[in-house]
Amino acid sequence: MDLAGFIDTFRDSIAQRVVESYPPLYRPSEQTVQLPTLLRRPLGAQADAIRGAALSLGAHQGTTVVGEMGTGKTFIAASAAHAAGFRRVLVLCPPHLVRKWKREVEETVPGARGAIVTSITDLERLRLLPRSGPLFAVMSRERAKLSFRWQPAVNERWAVAGGRLVRDEETGDPFRIPCCPACGEQVLDKEGVPLSLGDLSRRRRVCDVCNSPLWQADTAPPPPPPPLPARRLREAPDAGLLRPLRRRRGA
Ligand SMILES: [Zn+2]
Repeated sequence: MDLAGFIDTFRDSIAQRVVESYPPLYRPSEQTVQLPTLLRRPLGAQADAIRGAALSLGAHQGTTVVGEMGTGKTFIAASAAHAAGFRRVLVLCPPHLVRKWKREVEETVPGARGAIVTSITDLERLRLLPRSGPLFAVMSRERAKLSFRWQPAVNERWAVAGGRLVRDEETGDPFRIPCCPACGEQVLDKEGVPLSLGDLSRRRRVCDVCNSPLWQADTAPPPPPPPLPARRLREAPDAGLLRPLRRRRGA
């Protein structure tokens, strides 16, 4: 029996078990949840998905909307954040969907502004804007990942052979070589070729001998932010909203 057949045969027991394990927060037949005005009318089950997700957003730190392609997950998520009363929302999504999110948010939530941000500085600027309608800051998740800063972590010692300093063939100057901070071995790549500090800055590597990381998080303090009056603090994003998971057909 394949998975589809299994689900078909035991669907009632499976559904009962799911409801027992995950008691629903929202039952459309028993609860009435008022939806705020939206610029587009929810179709089919979208209204219930929005109500459920909004209730969940009010009760939990994270909420996941799952649905097939074309069921309107972006629309549901944007509407749910609005219905839950969030006025400042950060959207992290794949790079190719940044513009779609901005468009959908502005076509869905009355008075909302979608702003594409590419850096923390952009976010900081947005935060200082005068408060008007709901604000959705949309950022590519690849950008968000790139903001992690790191630097090589190695010791350097003078290159020595036979008790004498080795000199650079071209300049005639002695030079230093990067070494593992844990075991002290010279840092080589998998082929045994010595790596320079430049090589180590391009990619995060571990020591070939003892597996210690040859990089560390860059902890240099960022430039000090402008002082934050208490009033401003309240304008930080209300919710991080991740792009909903997509269930693949037949999965
Ligand atoms: Zn090592």
